[in-house]
Amino acid sequence: MTGEPAAQERINLLGLERAGLEAFVGTLGSKPFRARQLMQWIYGRGESRFPAMTDLAKDFRTLLGERAEVRAPEIVTSQRSADGTRKWLLRADSTQAIEMVYIPEEGRGTLCISSQVGCAMDCSFCSTAQQGFNRNLTTAEIVGQVWLAERELARDFVPPAGASPGQRAITNVVLMGMGEPLANFRNVVPALRLFTDDFGFEISRRRVTLSTSGLVPQIYKLAEETNVALAVSLHAPTDELRNELVPINRKHPIAELLEACWHYLDEQNGRSVTFEYVMLEGVNDQREHARGLVRLLKGQPAKLNLIPFNPFPGTQYRRSGAAAIAAFRDELLSHGVLATIRRTRGDDIDAACGQLAGRVQDRTTVRLGSKLIGVAVST
Ligand code: SAH
Repeated sequence: MTGEPAAQERINLLGLERAGLEAFVGTLGSKPFRARQLMQWIYGRGESRFPAMTDLAKDFRTLLGERAEVRAPEIVTSQRSADGTRKWLLRADSTQAIEMVYIPEEGRGTLCISSQVGCAMDCSFCSTAQQGFNRNLTTAEIVGQVWLAERELARDFVPPAGASPGQRAITNVVLMGMGEPLANFRNVVPALRLFTDDFGFEISRRRVTLSTSGLVPQIYKLAEETNVALAVSLHAPTDELRNELVPINRKHPIAELLEACWHYLDEQNGRSVTFEYVMLEGVNDQREHARGLVRLLKGQPAKLNLIPFNPFPGTQYRRSGAAAIAAFRDELLSHGVLATIRRTRGDDIDAACGQLAGRVQDRTTVRLGSKLIGVAVST
């Protein structure tokens, strides 16, 4: 074969963590430090055009232009909420799209990203389950979400007073969008490394959070590979109830799951695991459930994050009332278990959990876990 490779044959550098990029520049006859220079352009300055990378040798830039590219997912639509929350619909391929959401708060900015198109975990209160599983996102698509958002946000980002120079709009990344990240382990782990790499996004490991429905063997594997913060979708204090809400529990029951969580913290010298708990009226929001959680978590390095359920068409569940949620939290706190209530953000642009689902339900909607919604794009 001769001639220039077609665009689709070019290697997308957003899919290579540092070691992979060093190996790649090696194949182009360059030294490993060139990889770090490239990363400074790509992640430090958000540059995607090789000709603009002026401190790289011209021949090297030409070669890169032939063999490589820096390509993030394409934006389909973008919206901004009155509260500053931003939401982008991104094309995953000709028929599928995913969403990512940026949530600015005092002193920090959190980007919520997806790891799969759809999900195979089949949790009963999550409408992604209704869509089923489409495919894993590639490393480049996972990293590309953060790269793209950083670039979009940089345009009008005003660093808070007293911020360090070079402060980025994105200070936290959470894998709480569409998909089960540990079911896409191979592509997710290099992305996590790029998020925390000094030549990547330079985010502290405690500010990158992977949320899982509880794939126990992969939690042990993750402990060997990375040291990011761990969040676990608990949702019930007993196996009987959790089997119903989070079916993976039938394979990996609560006791095994908690064991894996404590192991993860030991290995990673982590401070605590965050347990997500969606508040479903009359299902898991009674005092007995709070007491059950106290028995499981008291004295353990755990924090509970109570998420008001966001209903979607066809669901059998209802959101617990605000008073019930507050009482549940108080019950936990009074027994020494840390608990907070997750605030709903971006309602006016349907960036809060589940809002878009009601509008495009019939053929196009895939409702996502917490904040994200993927919509099939017709072309
Ligand atoms: N698959 C991963 C990450 C995606 S979901 C996981 O299960 O952790 C992110 C969070 O949103 C999870 O805790 C999930 O249980 C929760 N969630 C799913 N559907 C929800 C809904 N309808 N309302 C509120 N939270 C929901």
